[in-house]
Amino acid sequence: MTIAVLGSINMDITAYSDRLPRPGETLHAHRYLTGLGGKGANQAAAAARLGSATDFIGRVGNDHFGRSAIEQLQKFGVVTRHVSIDPGNSTGIAIINVDRNGENFITVVAGANFAIDETDIAGAADCLETTTVLLLQMEVPWPPMLLAAKRARAKGAKIILDPAPAPAAGIDLDLSFFDIITPNETETEILTGIHPHDAPTAAAAAKQLHRRGPQVVIVKLGSRGAYLSTPETGLHVPPFKVEALDTVAAGDCFNGGLAYALSKGMDLVPAARFASACGALSTTKYGAAAAAPTLSEVDGLLSRA
Ligand code: ADP
Repeated sequence: MTIAVLGSINMDITAYSDRLPRPGETLHAHRYLTGLGGKGANQAAAAARLGSATDFIGRVGNDHFGRSAIEQLQKFGVVTRHVSIDPGNSTGIAIINVDRNGENFITVVAGANFAIDETDIAGAADCLETTTVLLLQMEVPWPPMLLAAKRARAKGAKIILDPAPAPAAGIDLDLSFFDIITPNETETEILTGIHPHDAPTAAAAAKQLHRRGPQVVIVKLGSRGAYLSTPETGLHVPPFKVEALDTVAAGDCFNGGLAYALSKGMDLVPAARFASACGALSTTKYGAAAAAPTLSEVDGLLSRA
């Protein structure tokens, strides 16, 4: 019952200031934080914190941030034997400015994440061929991603694609390689042209996505919960009531939770509800991977609802 994640590892460097800088301006921020980020790392950390045996496939540079990212993944319990050190590229970083209203500017340097290629997939064959669930996102090149999906699926794994971040031009990718796709509101609109603001609009968007292959579509609707769709049926997963502080990585904690629940054999509806509880809880803490909830926190929220 294992989870494999192929994806990005970033070091997030976040500066907090009253307002965002203008072009050419030097602005003094009042504090900064560094923390593990990247959608792959966040989803792996979320699954591992819940207690899943989680294997990561990825790359970091031969630098301080890379060593620190590996250490942090290990602290979450993520197995990093398939995280390689790439001497030709830097570790991925995200430089984030946040103002007092939570508005942000983000610059990402993908570095080693974009150097992932077929050799990383070949080197991780043991893990891809035995995993129960494979988690994928859009922050590494597509060819190795598709290869990993094919390889894991041939041995019976469920493949979950988070189409995030979705390029504005859309995703010109054969989605039939994926069992489950989990776009948020923005990604759903980019992929289908429909902005999902309620159950009927989410259902209409999901219908289009089913035609591209995935049998399960989960539209993440932020504070409105989620919409779970299969070709036969659809249902709104209502949001859990929480005091939201910081919504960064809510979607990643949702996907980590979904992978955990499915790998434990839960059916789709309770698995989506479990994932939604993980997403909701992550908004009650600051940070990306650091905001991932524990199993007892999730069980607590589910039992109070
Ligand atoms: P992303 O981070 O990818 O944009 P969302 O913001 O849609 O994703 O959040 C993912 C999931 O987390 C939602 O589908 C929902 O279940 C849960 N969630 C997010 N924000 C809230 C909130 N304010 N209250 C309750 N649940 C939330």
